[in-house]
Amino acid sequence: MSTEFLCIIPVDPKYVPNTHGQESALAAFTKMLPMAESVDAVVHKEIRFIDAGMRFEMVSCPLCGSELDQIWWGDAMDAAQRNAFENLAVRLPCCDAASTLDNLTYRMPSGFARFSLQAREPKLGRYLTVDKLQTLESILGTPLKQIWSQHKKRGHDEIRTYRRAAATGR
Ligand SMILES: [Zn+2]
Repeated sequence: MSTEFLCIIPVDPKYVPNTHGQESALAAFTKMLPMAESVDAVVHKEIRFIDAGMRFEMVSCPLCGSELDQIWWGDAMDAAQRNAFENLAVRLPCCDAASTLDNLTYRMPSGFARFSLQAREPKLGRYLTVDKLQTLESILGTPLKQIWSQHKKRGHDEIRTYRRAAATGR
């Protein structure tokens, strides 16, 4: 048994819309997903890693495409988490170039955010269409991205954090 979430997060990890924006976006998001089990707007005190859960496959370099070593990535994530993901800068081991954890290529898509719209069991089977995403972007006044997340057990009220992901992933 697994639970699926569709998360919509700002491209900018630090972005938190005002209360009015959050409420309007949640109302629109709820209308877009009439079959969803539940729909929430979530604000975290600190930046969280929003991962794909069971769908998580690999992380690769955005410049040369090399698959990044999971231990290197895990260490970089641990270091960034010590500062609540405020600084996501990394030096890529393959290219020796500067990048950020947020700009790495995640398969499946993952991201960093304080704010998210989350639909539990959206029963959609795909991403929101571009026009629906644009509607949410204009309400929230910021570019957004979509993350599908799948988790083993029911009962997760929110998307697990990186620390829990790491504990089960190693
Ligand atoms: Zn590279």
